[in-house]
Amino acid sequence: MNFLGALYLEKNMSGTSTGTVWLNKGNKKIAVSSPVDGDNFANIGKASATDYDQLIHQAQQAFPIWRAIPAPRRGEIVRQIGLRLRDFKLHLGTLISYETGKPLQEGLGEVQEVIDICDYCVGQSRMLYGMTSVSERPDHRLFEQYQPLGIVAIITAFNFPVAVWGWNAMIAAICGDVCIWKPSSKAPVTAIAMQKIVARVLEQNNLPEGIFSLVIGDRNVVGEKILSDRRVHLVSFTGSVAAGRIAAAKVGERLGRTILELGGNNAIIITEFADLKLTVPAVVFGAVGTAGQRCTTTRRLIIHESRYEEVKDHLLRAYASLKIGNPLLEANHMGPLIDRNAVKAYQKAIKTITRQGGTILFGGNILKGEGFSSQCYVEPTLAEVENHFPVVKVETFAPILYLIKYSGNVENAIALNNDVDQGLSSAIFSTNHNQVETFLSARGSDCGIANVNIGTSGAEIGGAFGGEKDTGGGRESGSDSWKSYMRRQTVTVNYGESLPLAQGIRFEIEE
Ligand code: NAD
Repeated sequence: MNFLGALYLEKNMSGTSTGTVWLNKGNKKIAVSSPVDGDNFANIGKASATDYDQLIHQAQQAFPIWRAIPAPRRGEIVRQIGLRLRDFKLHLGTLISYETGKPLQEGLGEVQEVIDICDYCVGQSRMLYGMTSVSERPDHRLFEQYQPLGIVAIITAFNFPVAVWGWNAMIAAICGDVCIWKPSSKAPVTAIAMQKIVARVLEQNNLPEGIFSLVIGDRNVVGEKILSDRRVHLVSFTGSVAAGRIAAAKVGERLGRTILELGGNNAIIITEFADLKLTVPAVVFGAVGTAGQRCTTTRRLIIHESRYEEVKDHLLRAYASLKIGNPLLEANHMGPLIDRNAVKAYQKAIKTITRQGGTILFGGNILKGEGFSSQCYVEPTLAEVENHFPVVKVETFAPILYLIKYSGNVENAIALNNDVDQGLSSAIFSTNHNQVETFLSARGSDCGIANVNIGTSGAEIGGAFGGEKDTGGGRESGSDSWKSYMRRQTVTVNYGESLPLAQGIRFEIEE
């Protein structure tokens, strides 16, 4: 476990920091066990309500200081975070793999994603553009500008324990906001490691406490407090649809702002014109990567009847060759699920599939014996179902891939793609131009992400990331997502000597 020491982590740690200062270690602890081997490798002190208030107070103090620093200078701080992350990539990637169970390659990829977003933000910090418009009144100037918002709370899910923070915090930082991060209690150690990496940059630049804070604690003490706290200007919430509904309602009650990044139910359409050389590896990576615990995991395959048996055969062969085991070993394709509760949800879904009329084609079992002592390892599973089965309509966060047959034209496949409540990622495999453009047209996929001849998972940071319908409508990372982290202001300047009103309204007073 050299990586823990290399990241300055200890067995007992505080989970609350205002930047470089760690608040009391807390009486109540979260015992963190790795799903890889079941070892309890860390105990994290939970924040109290007083700790939380101190964090908010510190963030309030820091905001005017941080926003006064020119955006490109803020970008320079983010650049330094990216540089430091490069030094820790291997150790942090290893920790992610050990704490969440995702393959080491994916852990390293996740750190790379944060490095990439840091680089992206350096440039973006010089491009917080407003638009210039034209006024209908003479000698008037009409334009828009963007100002920092204030305190941004970032509530993250376990499955991307550092990337989601990166997408949010680095963008928020260049926008002049201060951040409070509440990570998932299922992956708190990675968050502490990241905070320590950032702390060194804060120290080296003599920056005050309160710019990047971390708080780990119970839902009722911390999580729900953030949602109802009017001192928090934006809540970026990443998690399940069910939790997102609660978050949206609570923040909505106080008319606060949210960015919601919730669950998906992502499909790949495989038409009669699909090139299976591309399709099969994309499907398998999409379905078993992160053990089916990505928001963009491929959950449904919508296959044209003319290719159905062929695709099924390919998948059965590919699944039989998958190696499941310790995710830190490169030979293994898939590691464990995050915890025993996730395994229970998997088991329940397997039972429900058959009860609702589906057939398990491959897998469906929990793995036991040597190497699987944490009891979190399951078989990747293929199931033949129909799209209308209730079990297919919900996101089971596990490696279960549904095979669904369609007949007729691509519109029928698109209708199935869209016939779920979630709207995150979608893909089509086809070499037919008409089919591809139909999928991308206004009557095509209704998801936030629509891919052609690549799978549903593995988004690049340069695009806006997020989904429609129950996925929440939020957008993060690239493109113009930065605008959500800023206050938009429309400005009209009168540089003339009269006071004409808009819409030609006349209002005269005599003095
Ligand atoms: P979760 O909903 O259990 O928890 C997500 C976060 O919300 C955690 O930090 C949790 O502590 C917090 N939380 C939960 N209920 C809360 C409440 N009432 N008040 C305040 N905070 C609360 O999700 P999870 O199991 O950690 O992650 C898996 C889910 O996240 C999946 O549904 C997945 O699709 C989704 N996800 C979505 C995206 C995306 O960008 N769309 C990315 C990653 C994960």
